[in-house]
Amino acid sequence: MVGAMKPLVAIVGRPNVGKSTFFNRMIGERRAIVEDLPGTTRDRLYGDTDWNGRTFTLIDTGGLALGEGAPPGQVGLSGLSGDLMEHVRSQVQLAIEEADVIVFMVDVRTGITTADEEVAALLRRTNKPVILAANKADNDSQRQYAPEFYALGLGEPIDISALHGLGTGDLLDKIVESLPPETPEEHTEEDETEQVRIAIVGRPNVGKSSLLNRILGYERAIVSDVPGTTRDMIDTELLFEDRKLVLIDTAGIRRRGRIVPGIEKYSVIRSMRAIDRCDVALLLIDAVEGLAAQDTHIAGYVHEQAKGIIVVVNKWDIVQEQRRATRRGEPISLAREIAEAEEYRKILSTGLKFIPYAPVVFASAKTGYHVQSLLRKAIEIADTRFVRIPTARLNEVVQEAIRRHHPATVHGHQLKIFYATQVQVNPPTFVFFVNNPDYLHFSYERYLENRLREAFGFAGTGIRLIFRARS
Ligand code: GDP
Ligand code: GDP
Repeated sequence: MVGAMKPLVAIVGRPNVGKSTFFNRMIGERRAIVEDLPGTTRDRLYGDTDWNGRTFTLIDTGGLALGEGAPPGQVGLSGLSGDLMEHVRSQVQLAIEEADVIVFMVDVRTGITTADEEVAALLRRTNKPVILAANKADNDSQRQYAPEFYALGLGEPIDISALHGLGTGDLLDKIVESLPPETPEEHTEEDETEQVRIAIVGRPNVGKSSLLNRILGYERAIVSDVPGTTRDMIDTELLFEDRKLVLIDTAGIRRRGRIVPGIEKYSVIRSMRAIDRCDVALLLIDAVEGLAAQDTHIAGYVHEQAKGIIVVVNKWDIVQEQRRATRRGEPISLAREIAEAEEYRKILSTGLKFIPYAPVVFASAKTGYHVQSLLRKAIEIADTRFVRIPTARLNEVVQEAIRRHHPATVHGHQLKIFYATQVQVNPPTFVFFVNNPDYLHFSYERYLENRLREAFGFAGTGIRLIFRARS
């Protein structure tokens, strides 16, 4: 799947029109099984949806814009407070820049508001496909108001009721029709096993471009720019200890000065696009600032996509320097230093408990501290993703796991596992043939995953377990 990029569909609109209701309906089933991922409730930002054979990522830009530091503001029927309107505007801007298709949601019950008009004016200027969804059309009498929204100049409104699931199929049809054509796979299997595709992701100012430049300093033979999948992305190939690495540009890393302070949300989407195309993501965290909500969102996405991940606590030099300053030049024992890193690691792992398999590396892009070992680890993780477990060995481990701990009954039914087989590498994907996948409790799935990890490793990478009824 390396190289393929899922299209992004952004839902925009003023607050309260039903964006998150629609979004949750679309990705609802997926939510149920990943209960401790960050943002699994209201503040969930993105999720994958399949329709008519196409997969795309749906983004609730409302949640994104309001995700951090939501401004206080009154929501009126016809207008919004200045702050709130500013947030709506930035959502729309984000969608225009990043999305492939934009769904503009309005509320048939309130009719056109000035905020709607303002959003429409912004959207009329983009060349990207915009689909107008008139929500809360719960019945015929409300549906008749939908055509009123023609006046926004964005074509025919599609009436839906997100709450009751009416008309959503038509809306999805329209979305899929508007998606860009599928991009063919660019890489052969051989390429894939040889080269390691690394994405450097994280919030603005964590040190992504510094790390990129530091890595390029180790280049020995070739460094070449290859076009990424979209216009403004440039990937960089280099040789590191005789392995070919491809550094995937998180659009913006290399265009200095483009990132406006404060618009943290932009980095989430840019990161997602880079993550889709990578084998291993280096998630940079600012050692001084610690873990932020956006960091866990990005980590959650890496986990869901079952990519490799290293949590890089960057700017570790500053922490070391501060420590030295408080101790006035007293030497610090190595034991002490390790203890402090362990302490830091513990705090991090609470916030990132859904990726217990991710190694944490304390590094400094500025001094180069641990940067080479970071790359070695990334290569190791990428290689792990290509490991094939022989079926017999796999089933020994699975049977032993079942012997040690039987599945609990779910509504009076017990899961029976007949056998398992690895169906794919990169990410390692295992299919379990069972009597009925509905009898699987997620805690048992986690138990099995842990047993596979104990037996086979897979340190630093997500793996996938799929449960199918044996036919
Ligand atoms: P958002 O701010 O745009 O994300 O809006 P929400 O999804 O939070 O919805 C705002 C309110 O409208 C909630 O009380 C929803 O239950 C309600 N709502 C959403 N969709 C529908 C719908 O199709 N019909 C009706 N009657 N209410 C809806
Ligand atoms: P980006 O926005 O994530 O690409 O971050 P930059 O690479 O532009 O770094 C943001 C700021 O942090 C710059 O002033 C860098 O010099 C500084 N910086 C980056 N990495 C380190 C590091 O490891 N240690 C220290 N002390 N500063 C760093």
